[in-house]
Amino acid sequence: MSYTIEGSTGPWEVVIGLEVHAQIISKAKLFSGAATAFGAEPNTQVSFVDGAFPGMLPVINRECVAQAVRTGLGLNAHINLVSRFDRKNYFYADLPAGYQISQYQHPLVGAGTIEIELPDGSTKAIGVTRLHVEQDAGKSLHDQHPTKSYIDLNRAGVALMEIVSEPDLRSPEEAGAYLRKLRTVMRYLGTCDGNMDEGSLRADVNVSVRKHGEAFRTRCEVKNVNSIRFVMQAIEAEAKRQVAVWDDGGTVEQETRLFDSARGLTRSMRSKEHAHDYRYFPDPDLLPLVLDEAWVDALRSALPELPDAKRARFMRDYGLPAYDSAVLVAEQATADFFEAVAQGREAKQAANWIMGDLFAALNRTGRSIETSPVSAASLGTLLDLIADNTISGRIAKEVFEAMVETGDAPMAIVEARGLRQVTDTGAIDSAVAAVLAANADKVADYRGGKEKLFGFFVGQVMKAMAGKGNPALVNEALKRALA
Ligand code: ADP
Ligand code: MG
Repeated sequence: MSYTIEGSTGPWEVVIGLEVHAQIISKAKLFSGAATAFGAEPNTQVSFVDGAFPGMLPVINRECVAQAVRTGLGLNAHINLVSRFDRKNYFYADLPAGYQISQYQHPLVGAGTIEIELPDGSTKAIGVTRLHVEQDAGKSLHDQHPTKSYIDLNRAGVALMEIVSEPDLRSPEEAGAYLRKLRTVMRYLGTCDGNMDEGSLRADVNVSVRKHGEAFRTRCEVKNVNSIRFVMQAIEAEAKRQVAVWDDGGTVEQETRLFDSARGLTRSMRSKEHAHDYRYFPDPDLLPLVLDEAWVDALRSALPELPDAKRARFMRDYGLPAYDSAVLVAEQATADFFEAVAQGREAKQAANWIMGDLFAALNRTGRSIETSPVSAASLGTLLDLIADNTISGRIAKEVFEAMVETGDAPMAIVEARGLRQVTDTGAIDSAVAAVLAANADKVADYRGGKEKLFGFFVGQVMKAMAGKGNPALVNEALKRALA
């Protein structure tokens, strides 16, 4: 079932294209040596270049270019060995130069793809139109003084990647999956931390609606949305607004809008600006950027294993279902944790413990996998204790909870709490005998054909043994005694 919005004239399809701004991980800015650390005191990370002092010249930061190329390679995109920087002119108080150095007609990275995973387990390839490199602007602070606005230029000149998608997305869920996947890929690559709270990743959301089979209609752009949840909400709100306009016989005008997350609505910000409004022209202070093919190849061969490849390997080498594999590779640290636990053990069992008990414990304790109270090594040891019959699977749950609480090693908990599984057949036989003696009526029913009672006997024996009886041995002993 595809996603549609029901209007008074029937169902409408939603068309979405995203322009994502991703802050490049780099110690220094794109064209200056000033630092980029988040949260510094205002205006403590500003060079003369960032402040646009007269006569200052930009010098490109090789690491920022390498990061953008890595990202392009990670998106299976074409790398343009020759690209160019342009000035995008506009006036704003937090833009001291009066222009942003960006790339327009000749971006560093051309067409690529991002494969997204849909809830039904299928995948869909979303086209990436381009990736270009540009400077960030500064920030106006309107809430520090009753009558004045302040300017913080720490962010001015920080390197951004703008990653533009084709209008291939068809629902809020697909847009969310696209952003999550893009973020995962960049985190694997170490090119953007993807931290939306700190503004390292922001999306401009282009939305239009159409009747099935029609050509695209006019779109509106919802600017600067800073969480995946808000992106999804903004799409739905904007699509509904457009459906109502068309259904009423009106016309959607192309414009730039803002999402008001408190009211769940988009509102008009300005009429659509066009490229010619910015008077783009090649920056005369910068030569065209020419890359050495061998340098690009070296970056390519140094790329880490990326999420799609890892997911395929988890399915192939560990025999995991597609769903488990996708969940485990969503974060590099989770994938590493899984591999450490699964090494030499039952992979599906390792996956179940991580996705079930461990994720629940992390949620409950507000921790991440990096600061997990249970290490991969101790979870592995716990699985070994199940495998060698030291404890039952059921008791293991109890041991795991104690591990989360105390941080103790599994064996220490088993010993301290006397949780060792009973495999002594003598002890099991006497527990069985006691249970059967206490339930003579049920034994008679069982022998008379009520075989469902077997489960009851197992439960009683387990209870009598405080859950520590080896389940297989208990079953055998009961079968023997009841035969
Ligand atoms: P502009 O140059 O005006 O910014 P682009 O062609 O670069 O326009 O497109 C910007 C974004 O809008 C891209 O992400 C693209 O996928 C998306 N887009 C283009 N047309 C539509 C449409 N009809 N509906 C939704 N999104 C669209
Ligand atoms: Mg654009």
